[in-house]
Amino acid sequence: MDDSPENRPPTNQAARKLRVPVALVARLAGIVGQAMEHRPETLAPYLNAAEQSGQAYASQSLWCEIAHEEQGVAEVWSRIRRGDVSDPIAARHAFMLLLALDGWSRVKVCDHPRCRRAFADATNAVSRRRCARHTRQQSRA
Ligand SMILES: [Zn+2]
Repeated sequence: MDDSPENRPPTNQAARKLRVPVALVARLAGIVGQAMEHRPETLAPYLNAAEQSGQAYASQSLWCEIAHEEQGVAEVWSRIRRGDVSDPIAARHAFMLLLALDGWSRVKVCDHPRCRRAFADATNAVSRRRCARHTRQQSRA
């Protein structure tokens, strides 16, 4: 078999270098962030699982949950495209898309000493350190 670099199977490292526009990932993170802020109970099981059993386990349980849902993916994704993650199914799909495209790097815990709330960093530079509530407080100070 031809073993030139173009014909080797993709490694994990190659898979991570998928060319996904930052703006798309940031928008998705913003949508997931809305779900985390307005319906924290929806994604809490996966965030807790990531903390207690690891991100791979959490991703796997999220995927299993999605695989058992009966709603059509096209319909759910069209709601996500409109930024509507008010129902738990759309929130789970948006979260899975974010993880699939960009891993867990945008899923963070607020560093405010009395908060520790989970949020999704929707900045282009992935530089946010605090949840929406404490980002607002910080900018007023
Ligand atoms: Zn906070």
